[in-house]
Amino acid sequence: MRVYNFSAGPSMLPEEVLKKVQAEFLDYNGSGMSVTEMSHRSKVFDEIHNEAIANFKDLMGIPENYTVLFLQGGASTQFEAVPLNLLVKGKADYIVTGNFANKAYKEAQKYGDIACAASSKDKNYTFIPETKKSDFREDIDYVHITTNNTIFGTTYNKLPETDAVLVADMSSNILSREYNVSDFGLIYAGAQKNIGPAGLTIVIIRNDLIGHAMDICPTMLKYETQAKDNSLYNTPPCFSIYVAGEVFKYLKGIGGVKAINEINVYKAGLLYDYIDESDFYFNPVEKPYRSIMNVPFVTPSTELDAQFVAEASKAGLVSLKGHRLVGGMRASIYNAMPVEGVKALVEFMKKFELQNK
Ligand SMILES: *Cc1c(COP(=O)(O)O)cnc(C)c1O
Repeated sequence: MRVYNFSAGPSMLPEEVLKKVQAEFLDYNGSGMSVTEMSHRSKVFDEIHNEAIANFKDLMGIPENYTVLFLQGGASTQFEAVPLNLLVKGKADYIVTGNFANKAYKEAQKYGDIACAASSKDKNYTFIPETKKSDFREDIDYVHITTNNTIFGTTYNKLPETDAVLVADMSSNILSREYNVSDFGLIYAGAQKNIGPAGLTIVIIRNDLIGHAMDICPTMLKYETQAKDNSLYNTPPCFSIYVAGEVFKYLKGIGGVKAINEINVYKAGLLYDYIDESDFYFNPVEKPYRSIMNVPFVTPSTELDAQFVAEASKAGLVSLKGHRLVGGMRASIYNAMPVEGVKALVEFMKKFELQNK
């Protein structure tokens, strides 16, 4: 039996995609082999790869002057690749809105003059700090933000205003809502939350930012290396790219990012409305900054939280335990979580409240 998996990542994939992948697993499109067995230099893989890039560009509305890279190493490797490639003047400002944002900030400090322009740490990352242009330093190479904070359940509904290049870690909300790619110089995301299987990391970079990496930058981390070879400098994560490509086709089929965003807003609304109505459950995030992807909540006690997670799991609602930094519960309701999954969770919450209030 398939369960509703609320994991923060890796997370659910559309069932339709999983079934298609299963059907094609032994013999991809008459090739007589599985994509897992295929040379990354073969014609058949080349088509899978280029079609995935084209569909992704289409979904995100990526302008001509940007390059899409399919890399490995997770978003965490980009915490280093970004400063190694983009620090030319040697200065960058970071907005620290959570654990991953802080990791990115810390990693960058090895490579230049890095400042924290704003942080929400004083309130345990339950909001997004509002910034003005003047909060950023002069002569910086970029401003780094995390568009959706996976652990704390916050998101930017308005991007910070800056004349500097904006760099975004979009790991946990890419393709969940429309973005204007030209607002950014660089976007990166690990695939395992909203795109496909772990192993693939996507970078979208404005072309003029390619080719300025520091000498010490490892060859594999240079965007120039990867851009020159269409991300085939070495063996790419072929199977993850293929499954991601199927997710892109599926998303296009249902109406693209705009359509999935409407569903996401509806799903998150069901959950937040119930939490707000109830005096048993509580979400700590300030309302304007609530994420539609990750919804943390607590019951009145840590004992009840543990009981909730255990009983929910028995009812087929799994991986609801909150991150160790926050405690309580967290429902990650990415693109592939069906509306029925969120409805089932809300029904379970109602029942649990009645039984334990
Ligand atoms: C999960 C996550 C990461 C870490 O991603 P890896 O691919 O595991 O390195 C970084 N940033 C954000 C916002 C995330 O949600």
